[in-house]
Amino acid sequence: MTATDPAQAAHRTAAEFRALYGTEPTGIWAAPGRVNLIGEHTDYNDGFVMPLALPHTTLAAAAPRTDGVLRLHSAGAPGGIVELRPEDLRPRPGADWSAYPAGVVWAMREAGLPVGGADLHVTSTVPLGAGLSSSAALEVATALALDALHGLGLSREELARLAQRAENAYVGVPCGIMDQTAAACCTAGHALFLDTRDLTQRQVAFDAAAHGLRLLVVDTRVRHQLGDGAYAQRRAGCERAARALGVRALRDVPHAHLPDALAALAGEPGLRPLVRHIVTENHRVEQAVAHLDAGRPHALGPLLTASHASLRDDFAVSCPELDLAADTADAAGALGARMTGGGFGGSALVLVEEAAAATVAKAVDAAFAAAGYTAPRIFPAVPGPGARRLTP
Ligand code: ADP
Ligand code: MG
Repeated sequence: MTATDPAQAAHRTAAEFRALYGTEPTGIWAAPGRVNLIGEHTDYNDGFVMPLALPHTTLAAAAPRTDGVLRLHSAGAPGGIVELRPEDLRPRPGADWSAYPAGVVWAMREAGLPVGGADLHVTSTVPLGAGLSSSAALEVATALALDALHGLGLSREELARLAQRAENAYVGVPCGIMDQTAAACCTAGHALFLDTRDLTQRQVAFDAAAHGLRLLVVDTRVRHQLGDGAYAQRRAGCERAARALGVRALRDVPHAHLPDALAALAGEPGLRPLVRHIVTENHRVEQAVAHLDAGRPHALGPLLTASHASLRDDFAVSCPELDLAADTADAAGALGARMTGGGFGGSALVLVEEAAAATVAKAVDAAFAAAGYTAPRIFPAVPGPGARRLTP
């Protein structure tokens, strides 16, 4: 699972499309996976996030059809071509992979957009289920392809919202807006500072290499089943805490008022750590943006490590593999490390001086081997471009 040259990948994807459907694709559209630098579990609390696009990308080759049939195929999924009729689509939680692209067609039609038949073939270098948002990459690549095929002229933000609606309402996953916005709106060389309340965004320059730094992603290769239920439970807890505090969302609790908010929740001890995480995490994102704006990327290190401790101890969404990755990286000389994504498996993120990168990666590998865990996949993350048309 490596990030291959986009031109080569597009060429291969087009050849596969021709072999499958016997026609030329109209074009190839790409959307990246993402890693969230900081701001975890804040996106359903109207808070701040700061993802960046990975070089790992999902490609959608597509062509319109005149008979109104929708045909979907993924090189990464078993079961061959899935054939559907757009007008028959109904939300189907728990369905197979095709629910993601079918959900995008459904969401567009629900929005009154004229989306009809098409042939779609998908290839991807984004690891699936690794917390690097292969689902949003698939949705956004599909949305961008359909936008072009049907001449919809949708903005990046509109595409992201439709993709999120597909995942929430059609696939049945209650995710926030971060992943789809990252896939649609990230730009090379930048992290995307996103306010998930009003969806205002700003590209923040993040050139780790220019400062002698490296960002490493550690895909732990584990995914604990309890993730989905726990996500819904944390989300419900945050909503309950906001109601108890009389605010619209936890984003509305200023960092300076955290002690008062915690005191006000004296009767709800289970909610206090959730509030503490969200309020401090939002504050950490604002600090991270300030450091990057000031050309101090080194200063992100302690923020990453503090974010991990908060996610582990207060929000309780880490797991032994993520803790081992983060702790080992820190102990081996990284500037900071944390779990990234929803938790309970998936990936960790490590900020490290260029000169120490190999040592830190080796230490994490060795720690996983010593613990008897599956070997992690470790790769550098350089902020790449967001969704785009590759060909013609
Ligand atoms: P993540 O988004 O972190 O990778 P999710 O559980 O949200 O994890 O999404 C993973 C799911 O998305 C896969 O199980 C699969 O159903 C679907 N998916 C994503 N990319 C592809 C792809 N290229 N081909 C087929 N299915 C895909
Ligand atoms: Mg996902």
